Amino acid sequence: MVISKDRAKSKFPQWAAIDPSRGSISEYIKKCRKKVIVPAENKNCGQGKTAVIIGAGVAGLTSAYELLNNEDINLSRCVILEANDRIGGRSFTVRPGNVIKEDKYGFQKCKFESEPGEPYPPYLNAGPGRIPSSHKLLLGYMKKFGVPMEVYVMASDSNLTYVQNHFGNQSVPYRQPAYNMQGWVAQELYQLLNPDNFSDMSPGDIEKFKQFLQVFGNLNEEGMYEGSDRAGYNVLPGVQPGEITIPQSLQELLRSQFWDKTRFYQPIDFLWQPTLFQPVGGMDKIVYAFKEQLEPDARSELQLNAVVEQIEYNNGKYSISYKQEERTYTIEADYCVSNVPMPLLEGVLQQNHFSPSFQAALDAVYTAQKVGVEEQGGYRRRFLADTTKVGWQAERRLWQEAEGAGDVPIYGGISWSSDEIAQIWYPSEEYHAELGVLTGAYNFSAVAQKWGDLEPEKRLELAREGARNLGGNDFADGLKHGLAIAWQNIPHQKGGWAQWSTVENKETHFNTLVKGDQNFYIVGDQLSHLTGWQEGAVASALNAVCQLCDPMYSVPDIDVLPDTRLTVEGAFWATLPAYVR
Ligand SMILES: Cc1cc2nc3c(=O)[nH]c(=O)nc-3n(C[C@H](O)[C@H](O)[C@H](O)COP(=O)(O)OP(=O)(O)OC[C@H]3O[C@@H](n4cnc5c(N)ncnc54)[C@H](O)[C@@H]3O)c2cc1C
Repeated sequence: MVISKDRAKSKFPQWAAIDPSRGSISEYIKKCRKKVIVPAENKNCGQGKTAVIIGAGVAGLTSAYELLNNEDINLSRCVILEANDRIGGRSFTVRPGNVIKEDKYGFQKCKFESEPGEPYPPYLNAGPGRIPSSHKLLLGYMKKFGVPMEVYVMASDSNLTYVQNHFGNQSVPYRQPAYNMQGWVAQELYQLLNPDNFSDMSPGDIEKFKQFLQVFGNLNEEGMYEGSDRAGYNVLPGVQPGEITIPQSLQELLRSQFWDKTRFYQPIDFLWQPTLFQPVGGMDKIVYAFKEQLEPDARSELQLNAVVEQIEYNNGKYSISYKQEERTYTIEADYCVSNVPMPLLEGVLQQNHFSPSFQAALDAVYTAQKVGVEEQGGYRRRFLADTTKVGWQAERRLWQEAEGAGDVPIYGGISWSSDEIAQIWYPSEEYHAELGVLTGAYNFSAVAQKWGDLEPEKRLELAREGARNLGGNDFADGLKHGLAIAWQNIPHQKGGWAQWSTVENKETHFNTLVKGDQNFYIVGDQLSHLTGWQEGAVASALNAVCQLCDPMYSVPDIDVLPDTRLTVEGAFWATLPAYVR
């Protein structure tokens, strides 16, 4: 037997799009500007000009900041029109007294309890919750604006894994399947390592490979796995030596399929690798920092509750009409930057002044939202993703005080479940407080669609049952002040993020839209390789402003767009059975 050392990537053509060794992508990375540069001949291009930005999401605010803070552009006026009564769009942090408004099910008011001496109110990040270290543009703005940040704990080996009907139908600490499986894999490979099986390896390399496997799997001298303290203890050591857990057998682990019934390995996919961060006090601290930067500038204007209903183009200018408190206003603009989720532009944006390819690209996106793509099991995936979250407040002792002799408390991280809740996030901050806010469910696709069709109360019941399976009765019964959000039900958003896999000829249309047309620019993570991430929103805003002030700048075309599930759910979805997807 010869085991190939050149693992083919052809099974996952999507990877090509994020593999920097590919020609066009590396060109893209090299050429796509991370900074606004105004060429000498275009200095003061914004003088006497008005830009209207529709939507105060991360991308809209970044666009406004860049347009106003680049002296070489010298823009005269920048108006941000935001449909909501708050800025931030999907960067939505819910605190006591805030409401979640779904178009189907009315209002839910956040009733989280405050504690004496707390440094900031308790909060749920209903949208984004974490920032990877690789998101350098966003982290750069946080540094520039002085937004305090702290570590977001993506994974603790004490987090739980629940796979229905396996491991005695009990959840087990993450470290058990992780390191027992590692031990068994190492043992099985070690036993196969001989010159007959690996004829293309030298004896010296075989020896090194064996040494590696001993360390990797914690094997004994004979290359056998006998269990390891990596998988934890039944009784923790103290004065006494402690008692290491008996490892789950390889068969038990294999039969559980823990790796595809849960999102167990998501923390090792690139986007979720440590270190990740969160702003102290809630994710929306970032958008409010942008707002603070804009406020003192007399050229900037932010209108809340301003729903744009019509965008027309006449004689080189845009007329943008919006409704605010039952009255309709119109603003003239030289530049129009739209942060609106693209499908919601249908019927709002006049199109006949655009090139045929730009019109066709918009139409393709509208169709992808209306018609979608039918998947196995009858689920219809649309351009804007179905996704739901649940939040709870509870006493931290329910996870931070572990009673069993071998139990280790949970400080942050994510427990994984085969139930519809999919995951439970523990707070990554204020460990000594009495209360903490948990994300009690975060699910996708068909499950999220089903949850979104249920009333929030019903979703909370399901989430509590998921919590019961994962954490037991005390844990489930201790959860209070539940909140549920289905992003597909949120007005002016209608989904979690863009899914380009639903668009026919997606690369062609992406390449067209990303370049803008007639001083109309679409921004947001929707037009980036990082759909579902604020970094994509920032990158797209920089791209739009670069084009606006430099007619010679053009983003190179890309030839493969990744499937959004890679950037939002990690690589594992490719192997998921249909019922979990
Ligand atoms: C559940 C969930 C989890 C996520 N997790 C993460 C994460 O952990 N980390 C991360 O970095 N990112 C995450 N994201 C993605 C992140 O939320 C987005 O990338 C980010 O908020 C950028 O959004 P945006 O600027 O593209 O616009 P949006 O936030 O979509 O803003 C669009 C704005 O346009 C406004 N608007 C729409 N129509 C109109 C109209 N007609 N008139 C006026 N205004 C209008 C809307 O009200 C909204 O404010 C997550 C998203 C979701 C939904």
